[in-house]
Amino acid sequence: DFDDAPSSRDLDLRAPPRRVAVLLPLPLPEAYDYKVPASLDIGPGDYVEVPLGPRHLLGVVWGPGAGGVADGKLRPIGQRFDVPPMPEIHRRFIDWVAAYTMAPPGAVLRMALSAIGGMEPPKPTTAYQLGDPARLAELRLTPARRRVLDLLADGPPRPPAELALDAGCGVGVVRGLADAGVLEPVLLYPSRDLPKPDWTLPGPNLSGEQASGAATLRARVADAVFSATLLDGVTGSGKTEVYFEGIAAALEAGGQVLVLLPEIALSAQWLERFAARFGSAPHQWHSDLSGAQRRATWRDVATGAARVVVGARSALFLPYPDLRLILIDEEHDPSFKQEDGVIYNARDMAVARAHLGGIPIVLVSATPSLESAINAEAHRYGKIDLPARHGGATMPEMKLIDLRVDRPPRNRWLAPTLVTALTETFAEGEQAMLFLNRRGYAPLTLCRNCGHRLQCPNCTAWLVEHRLAGKLQCHHCDFTVRLLDVCPSCGAEGSLTACGPGVERIAEEVAHLFPDQRTALMTSDSLIGPHAIREMVRRVQDHEIDLLIGTQVMAKGHHFPMLTLVGVVDSDLGLGGGDLRAAERTYQLLQQVAGRAGRAERAGRVFLQTYMPEHPVLQALVSGDRDSFYEREAEERHHHAMPPFGRLAALIVSGEEEGTVDAVARALGRSAPRSETVQILGPAPAPYALLRGRHRRRLLLKAPRAVSVQPLIADWLSRVEVPGSVRVQVDIDPYSF
Ligand code: ADP
Ligand code: ZN
Repeated sequence: DFDDAPSSRDLDLRAPPRRVAVLLPLPLPEAYDYKVPASLDIGPGDYVEVPLGPRHLLGVVWGPGAGGVADGKLRPIGQRFDVPPMPEIHRRFIDWVAAYTMAPPGAVLRMALSAIGGMEPPKPTTAYQLGDPARLAELRLTPARRRVLDLLADGPPRPPAELALDAGCGVGVVRGLADAGVLEPVLLYPSRDLPKPDWTLPGPNLSGEQASGAATLRARVADAVFSATLLDGVTGSGKTEVYFEGIAAALEAGGQVLVLLPEIALSAQWLERFAARFGSAPHQWHSDLSGAQRRATWRDVATGAARVVVGARSALFLPYPDLRLILIDEEHDPSFKQEDGVIYNARDMAVARAHLGGIPIVLVSATPSLESAINAEAHRYGKIDLPARHGGATMPEMKLIDLRVDRPPRNRWLAPTLVTALTETFAEGEQAMLFLNRRGYAPLTLCRNCGHRLQCPNCTAWLVEHRLAGKLQCHHCDFTVRLLDVCPSCGAEGSLTACGPGVERIAEEVAHLFPDQRTALMTSDSLIGPHAIREMVRRVQDHEIDLLIGTQVMAKGHHFPMLTLVGVVDSDLGLGGGDLRAAERTYQLLQQVAGRAGRAERAGRVFLQTYMPEHPVLQALVSGDRDSFYEREAEERHHHAMPPFGRLAALIVSGEEEGTVDAVARALGRSAPRSETVQILGPAPAPYALLRGRHRRRLLLKAPRAVSVQPLIADWLSRVEVPGSVRVQVDIDPYSF
């Protein structure tokens, strides 16, 4: 739909005066024209420094100048950076993402450049090699000069300081030779020792189904045209082994490979497996990297030296010159949706990237998103099924615990059945995990005297008690207060009561029940960054821990062979509310949590504590009948004409003054596009009607699949005056609806 983005192929730099459009990493509506000084050789995609007002910025040459500004007023490009130009495909991708998400192209460019930070792209060093032999005749050869020339006679180019050191002379000698033209400069990007992944190493012997899946992936890579394939198989079925074969094929073809993972699934284990299969580690891209590491990785990608990149969603915006395959593991994961700044779903944008680049993409999941499942059903995507766990390992047995009958004692949260199962597990010397997707000690603090609930002043949210840290905290903004002794509403002392459990409270209960077991909390409070997560995963694997209590941080991808029991403390969390995605999301999360149990020769057990044992999600989990659950969910979506059967976009209106926000939301409601096919819902309070001090209203636009909603929305927005204090954000394909 957006294939007609302006391309730089038409760039004609010979026409005087030479001007080019440079896109800046700022939320500006378009690229600005700059003059190309005669001294500079500038081509499309070049990274350049340009003036903007009093500032100097890093920008990218986007295309021919548009000519809006008179020649005389044009400001010149300052310098060109010596890095490989941004590939044309990458520029088209940035334009496409901007058009699709309705974000300014410069805002998308900013994501793409965030890696390099500030204005300096990675700098090359100058090295020297032998130059024009004719020049040698004109030169008086001193012994020092001869030693330098000998060093270069049959070696690679070398930096001057190094040459001088080895030749036992001053750097001036080397520079003198360069000035005389006997040596010529070459730009070297600081070369790190980059072991290349070796695709010729043998993988494991694949089972029949695995082998045919691998053959399909190899064929898709060989086709070298766009295709999307859903690789669908239960946890432990060998999906990773199968897609490693796809990686091997793309490497053999000489291309680059991108593997996107949810950040927290990027485990040491995954990296070790990759290294075992390909003989060296892939390039990683995640939030734990230092600035220097990010720049080095960015450069390795840009030069093509990085053959395999594995990373979180932003790895999609690295400038691959020769990408041949994209893999998205855990493709259903909500963390692929970025909700700030440029609002996009990395999975969907990756499909677009594959389409633009004419390459295959593989979506991998044990619990595919409904969108991908339906796309596969409709044959828009190919499908590879791996129905069985590898090596005959069985899927864990899932059982419901009806909390109305199997009741925990007062102010306790673990049912007797679950406590018994934990006791048995520890007696066997095995590990257990309790899952509760709630950080802190208690989600709500209530005054027993007046009924007051402690609420965040900036958000529609309760303050969560974090007893270990001695504070009450809002999980949406930075608001934090010390634990209170007195009710702020009625002044009663000692009347504040913690209601409901968070993981800290479960840990307290477990400490009473099993004082001898080694337990660990695994949440984003206790584990900051991928390194801490990896360390915790290692401790569990090395059996330094008997019982793991955690949130979804530990639900993803880790393989714990001794873990045979999983208890879900509150399976109903997330099923409430009117969100059409709630059932799907809860199913995926619980299935994934369950997948942690019993992956090796030991059978696993999963207990789901619930007050709603009849709920279809829980029934689907215990019966293992995924297909009918997906079918029913799909029917529901179809019935409501919701994605992927219809298109959906949200407008979020936000600002600090509630009245102004309401006024803008109502104005948008009044001037909404009127048409038979397009339906507008709202304005209504957005989920979190108050967030970080901003009042929020939401309008939803629903349209048939055939309608392109972006032009409708652009037109809609152009008809409404929005004061500077109010922001209107467009969210195409909102995750929750
Ligand atoms: P998934 O990605 O579907 O969860 P994995 O690829 O991680 O599955 O496989 C689960 C476990 O089984 C891993 O330890 C993996 O090495 C092993 N495995 C899978 N297939 C094979 C095979 N054909 N031969 C040997 N080990 C295998
Ligand atoms: Zn808050």
